[in-house]
Formats: sequence, structure tokens, C-alpha cells
Amino acid sequence: MNTNNNSNKKPSPERSMTLFYLIAILIILILNFMVIPSIQERRIRNVDYGTFMNMTNDKEISQVEIQDNQIVFTDKNGNIYRTGIMEEDSGLVERLYNSGAKFSTEIVEQASPLLEFLLYWLLPIIVFILLGRWISKKMMNAMNGDSMSFGGGGFGGIGGMGGFGKSKARVYVQSTEGIHFSDVAGEDEAKENLQEIVEYLHNPGKYKEIGASMPKGVLLVGPPGTGKTMLAKAVAGEANVPFFSMSGSEFVEMFVGMGASKVRDLFAQAKEKAPCIVFIDEIDAIGKKRDTSLSTNDEREQTLNQLLTEMDGFESNNGVIILAATNRPESLDPALTRPGRFDRRVPVELPDLKGREDILKVHAKKIKVASDVDYNKVARMAAGASGAELANIVNEAALRAVRDGRRFATEADFEESIEVVIAGYQKKNAIMTTKEKLIVSYHEIGHALVAAKQKNSAPVQKITIIPRTSGALGYTMQVEDDGNHVLMSKEEMENKIATLTGGRAAEEIEFGSITTGASNDIEQATRLARAMITRYGMSDDFDMVAMETVTNQYLGGDTTLACSAETQALIDKKVVELVRREHEKARKILQDNKPKLDELAKYLYEKETITGEEFMDILNRNSSLTDSMQGQAQLNP
Ligand code: ADP
Ligand code: ZN
Repeated sequence: MNTNNNSNKKPSPERSMTLFYLIAILIILILNFMVIPSIQERRIRNVDYGTFMNMTNDKEISQVEIQDNQIVFTDKNGNIYRTGIMEEDSGLVERLYNSGAKFSTEIVEQASPLLEFLLYWLLPIIVFILLGRWISKKMMNAMNGDSMSFGGGGFGGIGGMGGFGKSKARVYVQSTEGIHFSDVAGEDEAKENLQEIVEYLHNPGKYKEIGASMPKGVLLVGPPGTGKTMLAKAVAGEANVPFFSMSGSEFVEMFVGMGASKVRDLFAQAKEKAPCIVFIDEIDAIGKKRDTSLSTNDEREQTLNQLLTEMDGFESNNGVIILAATNRPESLDPALTRPGRFDRRVPVELPDLKGREDILKVHAKKIKVASDVDYNKVARMAAGASGAELANIVNEAALRAVRDGRRFATEADFEESIEVVIAGYQKKNAIMTTKEKLIVSYHEIGHALVAAKQKNSAPVQKITIIPRTSGALGYTMQVEDDGNHVLMSKEEMENKIATLTGGRAAEEIEFGSITTGASNDIEQATRLARAMITRYGMSDDFDMVAMETVTNQYLGGDTTLACSAETQALIDKKVVELVRREHEKARKILQDNKPKLDELAKYLYEKETITGEEFMDILNRNSSLTDSMQGQAQLNP
């Protein structure tokens, strides 16, 4: 993400071009209809009819043209005159003929071919060119920011439009941005890694002395919204050096060669301002593997080649450090990641529990919050959220407080805003029949009950059957118990699948029929079961053999199969078997606890939203539940 503080003010090239053409057309119209005719008018002298008659008699007329409402004529010296028509003067033509005047039809047009040419052709073109220069100069100034303007010269090309191909990278000086490592919560490993770069920028001599060279490029990889852009800015902020930022997609233009020239330009500017940071966001837009597939993109390849050339072109100790961010490192061209280019890779992962708590606190400083908010609890509920999502959650909480007319945000605001960010806003007047509402109640209690009755499954935090704008008719929010939960056992994964099937199982038991409400559960259960078999080696048949490889780690985790067709068929069979087994287990748990299922579902039906404590209270009323429960938080719509 690229936050430019003056991005709204800059004119886009397209808008300026339209403006340019509009003004040009306007000027040509004015020239043609007002200026040129009036210049011509001035050259024609108006005389009275008597003068005309006298001149005819004195044989002073050289050419004459009798028009509908006027007579235009010239004397022997080439001056042009005009006079009105006299209806009575019938012998006029004869007299003119006798005086030796030539009858002409285009006195005015003939007047001066050279002047005509200048007026009609050259003037508009000159106006065009001047206007083009003026506009592109204005644009350059706007793009180079308020205070700094560089690389603005050299307008070439037609109409001085060469300026449009210039790099749009701007300089951010530390004092204006002011982002520091302390503003980036969590991400300690990444910060540690980047600290070295900061130290180098502070004191390059120390490194030169011993002969060590800094990496030219550092690649920040991680899912969207984890603070990659922030970290890059913080490096510049800490080192107090200029920060050039540009998004990979900005390089790829309509015209071949434009991107390459932008890269050249960017590096020329950076070298001037060294030491400095050059940040290229979404580098995968230009840095994709160059392959031999049919759909090649010349522009992208040229841009990438130029980038590689530029990176080779400067010595590693000249003070220009290139940071680049991507969320698909695997798609980058190997030439880009080889030593000497982006040879260092800094992972910027989704924050863990502690990280989430810290990020919430950092952002909560910007709003007014009640003193008793338990950030740890909020962070637990927001399992799997990225930094950007957490920032959004805090803002939503503040918005909610304003809506309710309070002066500060409470913990309830945070809880509600997590649900808003994850599941969308409450649908206030969604139409659900009472039967549907009952089905959803059973479905959600089914999930929760199966989760609670299984060992190692997380206790629920909240169950609700209020529909959300995301399409969820209700959901069960489970809470992650400890933040240091990195490994998942086979048993835990199986239990998770059982929990996912719990909703449908409850519908079957209570109503004997099934609904479409479980589609998301089915998807998730299938994905989990598949991963267990093909990637985690958790089935007896395939031992520790990978049947699938993940190709898109940070964006949804797409997989590609790497096995024969027969194995594929076997995998499909195994996946079905596994899910069926867990579904069976869930059904059994619910059947064994049918009275509780009924009691809880009725309670939820009436209350619409119940907390984890209420759920546990009812569940434990006569029986006791002592299982220690932990697991990963999840939402089961
Ligand atoms: P990325 O470049 O990884 O997509 P950004 O750096 O643009 O993500 O982050 C987007 C926003 O998310 C930031 O402006 C900030 O408000 C918030 N954010 C993300 N990560 C963090 C973090 N670790 N600490 C504080 N805020 C964060
Ligand atoms: Zn469900």
C-alpha cells in the first residue's frame, strides 16, 4: 500500500490531456470565428457608393466582385474597398466593363495567400505547441511535490509532451513522514533484520572499512496488510534519509518502453539523493517470471530488464538501498532474487497474539478508549487478523461509539467491530421465517456443542443468529486460548473437521432434513481434510509423501497436484472417508447430548446472541465438564 500525502492533488495525465485538447479546440474556434475575420475586416475599407462611381468613371478600379448585398473592389494599388448595392443602378456592369475593371469572384480570399496560410495553419499549430509545453510543465511541478522539483527539464517530442513519461517517484523526507520502528507493533524479527540497514545508512564508513557490502535489495514478503510499507517507511524514518516510493504497477504503462524509462529515471534521482531508500511496492507486477508462454508482455519484460540492469549498475556501497514488497514471492523471476540483487528476504508474517495486542494498543492510542478494555481478550477474538484489519477494527469501534453517542469506545465496541470487519454489518431487517431461525439456532449450537464436547477444541466465545451482510446467517466464534499455538496435531485437525460438520449434523438430528446453510462449513472441512492427506502426511496410505504443493502461500494458498491420476482418485476417496468419519462422530456427540442441544438451541433462538459463559453455564448445569480446552479460533457461519 502506498500512502502519498499529496496523491489527491496531482493531475492525472489523462485528465490533463483532455484539458489540453479542450483548450486547443477552444482557441482554434476563437481564432477562426473572431480573430481572423476581424484582421481581414480591418484590411477592407468601407466607402460610399459615390466614391465607387467616381472611381469607376476614373478607371481606377482593378477588380470588382458584385455580391448579394455588397460590392467589393480593388484599386490599382491592391487596396480593397467595399460598398453597398444600389438597386437602381442598372448600367453598372456595363460601365464597369467599359472602365476596364476585371470581374472577379474571390477578391477577399485572394487578398494575400501568405497571410492566409499563416493565419489558418501556422498560428493554430504554434498555439498547440505552446499550450502543450505549458501544461506538461505544470504537471511536472505538481508531480514532483510541493517543495522539491527535479528532473523536470527535457521536454521533447511532439508538442512538448515528453514530460508525461517521467518517473512519478517522489521524495519523502523523514521530517514529513516521521514513521519509526516504534510505530510498527510486533514484527520484531523483521525490525531486527532491518535495523542493520538503518545502521549502515547512519554510518556506511564502518562497513566499508572492513570491506563488507550491504545488500542492494531487500525483499519484504508477507500477506497483505501486515505492515510492509510501514516498515520500509520506518527504515527511512529511523535512518533519516529520503524515501522514494513507487508501486510496481505504476511502471507498467500502455506504451512499450515507458516503464523502462521510469526505472532509469527513478534510479537517476535516487543516486543523486543517496543515501536513500527506494521502495517498490508490489514488485511482482513487474518482477514476474519471464516465461515462454504465448501471452508475453513486452512492456513488463523490458521494465524488469531495466531494473536488473540498474541494480547491477551501481556499486553496493553507494548508499541506495532498494526495499521491495510482495505477497507472492514464488512468482518472482529468479534473476531478481539472485545474490547481488534482492538477495535478502525479510518475512513479514501475520501477527501472533502478542503482536495483535500490541497493534491494537498502538492504534487505540489514536482514539479515546475506556480504561477497562482488555486488549488481550480482543486480540484473542481477532485471531488471524492482519495489522491493517486490526487498525480497521479500532477505527470501527470508534465509529460505533460515535454512532451511539458515547465519548469513548468500550470493549463491547471492539467486539462488535471485530464481527463487522470479519462478517459484515448486522442485517437489521433481514427476512427469516421462524422455522429458518430455529434451523440456524440448531446449526450454530451444533457447532458449539461438538467443539465443547471434544477434547482440545476451543471453547466458544459467542454464538449469534443475527444475519450479517456477508451472508452468514449466524456464527459461532471460538477463542484461541494461548497465542503460542503454532503446531496442530492430527487429533486437533480431526476435531476441527468434526466441529465444522456439527452444524449440519444438528440439522439432521432435529429436523431430519438438510439445508444449504452448511456450504461454507463443507468447503472448510474439505480443505482441511485434503491438506491432512496431501500435505501433512496424516494418512496411512501416503506416508510422508507430498501430493500437493502450495503455490500461493500468502494469498489464499492455492495448491497444485503433483501425483498420478490414480493417486488423485485415491486421494478423493480418502478425503471423503475422513470427512464422513468425523461427520459421524459429530452426529454421535450430538445424539448423546440431545437434551442439551435442545435446551441450548431454544435459548439461542430466544436470545439471538449468547456469550461463551452463558453457553457453558447451561451446558454444565447438571453435568460437569472438566476437559481442558484449547485450539485455534475460528468462525463457522
Ligand atoms: P502492506 O504494505 O503489508 O500491505 P501496510 O504497511 O500498507 O501493509 O499497512 C497498512 C496499514 O495497516 C498501516 O497503515 C497500519 O495502519 C496498519 N498496520 C499494519 N501492520 C501494522 C503493525 N505491525 N503495526 C501497526 N500498524 C500496522
Ligand atoms: Zn455452519
